[in-house]
Amino acid sequence: KDSIKVDNISFKYPNAQTNAVHSVSFEIKENEWIAIVGRNGSGKSTLAKLLNGLILPEEGTITIDDEIILAEETIWDVRKRIAMVFQNPDNQFVGTTVLDDIAFGLENHGIEKAEMDRRVQEVLNIVNMMEFKLHEPHSLSGGQKQRVAIAGALAIQPSILILDEATSMLDPFGRKEVIETIRNLHKDINMTVISITHDIEEAVHADRILIMHDGHLVQSVTPEELLTTE
Ligand code: ADP
Ligand code: ADP
Repeated sequence: KDSIKVDNISFKYPNAQTNAVHSVSFEIKENEWIAIVGRNGSGKSTLAKLLNGLILPEEGTITIDDEIILAEETIWDVRKRIAMVFQNPDNQFVGTTVLDDIAFGLENHGIEKAEMDRRVQEVLNIVNMMEFKLHEPHSLSGGQKQRVAIAGALAIQPSILILDEATSMLDPFGRKEVIETIRNLHKDINMTVISITHDIEEAVHADRILIMHDGHLVQSVTPEELLTTE
């Protein structure tokens, strides 16, 4: 349960010469936090899209919670189990308050009112944003916006949370705030987390760090090893 096994996956964009992701394999266990790092163009976003079912691998398999993701038909099911948080939360807010924004996402999943209210309270507590529940999402600081985006992702009760450059646009204070939130999810609610990042400071909090280069996964290191190979 709550695990991902990636076995030899490759993906090439139709107009490209080389694979954006090339024979990548790795495994994430339940409650593990993995960071994926690499230069621009190394294939991180493409890997995120593959994990999220937005694109399908041309070769290899992705197994989520012991189930192989084979075809487009399974994607909707995957989306409920893998929640994504992106770089810019401003593009995704739909509610006029933090509360509405999270509730709206649940309405789309057909969750009934009482359960919806319960979950909204729960996730706002987890990200420590209860006091901002009536604020307009766009009026919040960068770090607070990402905490709302994380709450929205958690509300659908995913097995795995993927953060794609979630701290990249933030100032140092916001970055620290979001990293702290991810650490809490990992520690307190045992969330399985994949964070794709340029930020070494974020990566070193993960249990393990995968390094991408030119579409290949070139290394898997511990935080200590990452710091000493810098
Ligand atoms: P990263 O997220 O590490 O910056 P990407 O996954 O975005 O890397 O890109 C990996 C490679 O695939 C790069 O060479 C990039 O130019 C190419 N690429 C990304 N998206 C597309 C696309 N839609 N069409 C063609 N090539 C793409
Ligand atoms: P990121 O930093 O998230 O990798 P990019 O700036 O690489 O973002 O890409 C922005 C968008 O452009 C993405 O949707 C990506 O798929 C697309 N893209 C990136 N490289 C190419 C490319 N060589 N050809 C076509 N589309 C690309």
